[in-house]
Amino acid sequence: MTRVREETAPRCATKCGRPSPYGEICFPCVDEARDSIEAIEPEQLYELLLIARDEAKPANPNLIHNSASNGPKDALNLVVYALLNDLTRRWPDMLNTLHRHPEAARHQREMMQGVQSCHILTIPSDDSTNDDEYLSWKMKQITPRRPDDLVPYMREHLGIRITRGQLDQWKYVGLIKPTHTSQRNVYYHPADVLRAIDNRERQREPQHA
Ligand SMILES: [Zn+2]
Repeated sequence: MTRVREETAPRCATKCGRPSPYGEICFPCVDEARDSIEAIEPEQLYELLLIARDEAKPANPNLIHNSASNGPKDALNLVVYALLNDLTRRWPDMLNTLHRHPEAARHQREMMQGVQSCHILTIPSDDSTNDDEYLSWKMKQITPRRPDDLVPYMREHLGIRITRGQLDQWKYVGLIKPTHTSQRNVYYHPADVLRAIDNRERQREPQHA
């Protein structure tokens, strides 16, 4: 009986070749993602924050060959901010139940790619021609959104809570400009929202002589 069960046990959805009797993917694949995320040094995470705030440059310059509507730099800032949120908050929260997630293999692959991108962003390498597919792919997903879509997007991908009222207010005081408006809607680029938040925070920071 045991042998039959082993032979018919479902295989891990990451195609690692191991059986996965308890869920979509096997525990070693979950551990691989967890270990990779936990091996990132705090200094690297801080470096990501500086890159996201445009206060530091990526360690390897030739990362970006695609441009989003606001230009590659802004989109990169946003993608790096989202990556920081993934590495420190979203992915660690997912790991305990990841093996049972219906899209576990996709999430596991994304975690491994995200860790790789973190290293490329923060550790200089001799091979400076490497184009980062994960970052480029993420940048392509960033498009202007209506407030109704933007509010959940900012919460899910960046861990940032904003309200429609705040967007209206920022628009009113000139902190943010819509990318375009249609008959019934205004559209904002997520990178502009991030910059508006950043600028607002900086205005509140005490002035140093
Ligand atoms: Zn596996």
